[in-house]
Amino acid sequence: MEQTLVIIKPDAVKRKLIGKILQRYERAEFTIRAIKIIQLSENRAKEFYSVHQEKPFYNDLVAFMASGPCVPLIIEAEDAVMRNRELMGATNYKEAKEGTIRREFATSIQENCVHGSDSAENSHKEIRFFFTESELV
Ligand code: ATP
Ligand code: MG
Repeated sequence: MEQTLVIIKPDAVKRKLIGKILQRYERAEFTIRAIKIIQLSENRAKEFYSVHQEKPFYNDLVAFMASGPCVPLIIEAEDAVMRNRELMGATNYKEAKEGTIRREFATSIQENCVHGSDSAENSHKEIRFFFTESELV
């Protein structure tokens, strides 16, 4: 079994999509191992997305991620990283496949409702970014 990190982003929280998105993960047979609702500060958002600091969209992305509460969760399944990336769909929702979370719920390239770790190594780091040992079930 593999674990990976998902964030239900501020756009989806504002639009009251937490329940619908969690349902998508449960329906796809992921087990939710940890969950919380938090508000990222600008500094924490900067740190989380620091791999993108040279990108033209970085400042906007940081402001967006700090614009309201978000919901980090740890999900578990076989091949969780890859299966989550498939379930989320392409970064640009217009290119995302039918049936994916982003295709169904995203409203722009930036406001695409969910984040998912892109490798096993990053999953591990990102889980530690949001959760302490005692919060893991
Ligand atoms: P995430 O890391 O959030 O799971 P991703 O791995 O599909 O998404 P990345 O390339 O890592 O995509 O980009 C991180 C986030 O930055 C995207 O999810 C999106 O919110 C935003 N983003 C990416 N590309 C653009 C862009 N061209 N314009 C605006 N925002 C963008
Ligand atoms: Mg990414």
